[in-house]
Amino acid sequence: MESFMKDIRGWEDAAVGGGVEDVYGEDRATEEQLVTPWTVSVASGYTLLRNPHHNKGLAFTEKERDAHYLRGLLPPVSISQELQEKKLMHNLRQYQVPLQRYMALMDLQERNEKLFYKLLVDNVEELLPVVYTPTVGEACQKYGCIFRRPQGLYISLKEKGKILEVLKNWPQKSIQVIVVTDGERILGLGDLGCQGMGIPVGKLSLYSALGGIRPSACLPITIDVGTNNEQLLKDDFYIGLRQRRATGQEYSELLHEFMCAVKQNYGEKVLIQFEDFANHNAFELLAKYGTTHLVFNDDIQGTASVVLAGVVAALKLVGGILAEHTFLFLGAGEAGTGIAELIALEMSKQTKAPVEECRKKIWLVDSRGLIVSSRKESLQHFKKPWAHEHEHVGNLLDAVKAIKPTFLIGSSGVGKTFTKEVVEAMASFNEKPVILALSNPTSQSECTAEEAYTWTNGRVIFASGSPFDPVEHNGQVHVPGQANNAYIFPGFGLGVVMSGAIRVHDDMLLAASEALARQVTQENFDNGLIYPPFKGIRKISAEIAANVAAKAYELGLATNLPRPANLVKYAESCMYSPAYRNYR
Ligand code: NAD
Repeated sequence: MESFMKDIRGWEDAAVGGGVEDVYGEDRATEEQLVTPWTVSVASGYTLLRNPHHNKGLAFTEKERDAHYLRGLLPPVSISQELQEKKLMHNLRQYQVPLQRYMALMDLQERNEKLFYKLLVDNVEELLPVVYTPTVGEACQKYGCIFRRPQGLYISLKEKGKILEVLKNWPQKSIQVIVVTDGERILGLGDLGCQGMGIPVGKLSLYSALGGIRPSACLPITIDVGTNNEQLLKDDFYIGLRQRRATGQEYSELLHEFMCAVKQNYGEKVLIQFEDFANHNAFELLAKYGTTHLVFNDDIQGTASVVLAGVVAALKLVGGILAEHTFLFLGAGEAGTGIAELIALEMSKQTKAPVEECRKKIWLVDSRGLIVSSRKESLQHFKKPWAHEHEHVGNLLDAVKAIKPTFLIGSSGVGKTFTKEVVEAMASFNEKPVILALSNPTSQSECTAEEAYTWTNGRVIFASGSPFDPVEHNGQVHVPGQANNAYIFPGFGLGVVMSGAIRVHDDMLLAASEALARQVTQENFDNGLIYPPFKGIRKISAEIAANVAAKAYELGLATNLPRPANLVKYAESCMYSPAYRNYR
C-alpha cells in the first residue's frame, strides 16, 4: 500500500513538474517481486506525443505546447495540418513499391490518427488502392514480416471459453462496427489464416474515412482456427496458430461463442460485418445469425448492392426496365449468387411479380457449365434457385449464344475468361452490351477495359472490380467504372448505426443501391460511367446512410427515436471529422 501511495505521489510530482508521464508500478520493484502492471496516464507531454488519438505532431500550437508540457519535445516550428498532409503525400509518392506506401500509412495511423484519416479523406482515389485492394492483399501475405503492433483483436482456438474476457481486454468500450474474418478466403488470394487481419483493419479505416464512423467505435477482429496454407504453416514468421483449420463442430462452437459474447458485451446494436470467409461458412453464418444479430456480409450483400446500383444506373444508358433484361453470370459463389438474388428482388419489387419468376431472367455459369435443372441434385444449396429449365450447356461462349444476355457479369475469380469470342458475341446481339468484369485482383479480371472497348468497337458499357485506366478508342476516351464495395459499405454502416437498426433487411440493401445509383450525374453518363467519381464519396455515403436509415425506420427496425427529420443532414452531422481539435 505504501509503495502504491509513493507511486501516486510520484505521478503527482511528474504531472506538476513536467506533465509527462506514465508511471509504471513495476519500475520500483526488484526483479524477483511479482507486480501488478498498472499505469496512470496523463495525456500531456511525451505521452501526448505518443498517443495516436491525440497527437498532432508539429501542428501543436504555441499555446498547446505551453499548456501540455510539450516545450522542447518538438522542434520550434508549428505548422498546419494541411502542410503536414502535403508533406506526407509528397513522401508517400516517393515510394515506388506499393507495400512501402501501405507500411508508411500504417505507421502514420499508429502515430497520428487524425492525420492518417485526413490523408485518406482528401486523397481517397489515390490511397484507396493502398489501404485496400490490391495492396492490402500483399500486406496480408507478408503480414508476419511487416507486423509491428497488433491493430485489432485476435481470437484463436486458445481463447475458447474466454472470448468475453478477450473482448473486455479491448480498450474501447463503445463499439459500433466490428469487421471480422477467419482469413480463409482473403480477396482472391485464398487462405491466409491469421494474417487476414489486414482486411478488417483496412475495411474499418474505410468505414471511418468514407462513412464517418468514429475510429474508436470500430473493432477489427481475426478469428484464428488454423490455416490450410502449407506455406504459412512452414513459415517461421507466421503469426497464427500452427495447425490445420478446425472445421465442423469445433469451428461452429467457437463462432457461436464469439457471436454470443459480442452481443453480451456490446448489445444488439453493434454491426458485425463478416469478411472474406470461405463461401460455405459465409452463407451459413449469414443465414444462422441474420435473425438474431445485426450482421452484414460485404462479399455477398455489399457486392450485391454495389453491382445492383451499377446495373440500375446502366439502364439509363441501355434503356428498358430491369425486368426486360437478361443477366448471365460467370461464377456462382458469394458474389455471383448474392448479386443475382438482389437483382431478382429489385425486379420483383418493381414488377410485383414473385421473386421466383424474376430469377428466371437470371442465369449463372459455374465451372461445370450453365446451371440448369438437370444438375439440381448435385448443386450446392445456394445455387439451386438458379437451376432453370434448359438443356446442358458446357461453356460460357455457348451459354452466351444460347441465353443472349444483355448483361454479362464475371464473378468467378478466374481471369481472361471473357475472351474475344465471348465479348464479340455479346456485341453481336446488343447495341450496347453491358459487361461487368468483377474478379479481382487486376490479373484475374475477366477481360481488360481496353479489350472490352476494342472488341465491341467502343459500344460496351464496362465496369470492373479492379481499377483500369481510361482507354482511348477511335479518338474517343472511355472511362471504365469500378464496382468498388467501398461505395456501399461505409454509408450502409453509417445508416445502420445512426438509426440504431437492430437487424439488416434486404430492403436496406436495395435502399443503398438506389441511393448510389441516384448519385450518377448526366455528365457521368455522358462519359459512359455507371458509378459516380470516388472523390465525392463522403457526400455519397451520407446519401446512402440516409436512405438506409429511412428504410430501417420504415421497417420498424430502427431504435434511435425520434427519427431525425432530415436524414441526410443528420448523417453528415454524425460523421467523424479528421480535422484537429483545439486542446484547452
Ligand atoms: P467464391 O469463391 O464464393 O465464388 C467463385 C465461384 O466461381 C465459385 O462458385 C466457383 O465454383 C466458380 N468458378 C471457379 N472457377 C470457375 C470457372 N473456371 N468457370 C466458372 N465458374 C468458376 O468467390 P466470390 O466471393 O464470389 O468472388 C468471386 C470473384 O469476384 C473474386 O475474384 C472477387 O475478388 C470478385 N469480387 C468482386 C467484387 C467487386 O467487384 N465489388 C466484390 C466481391 C467479389
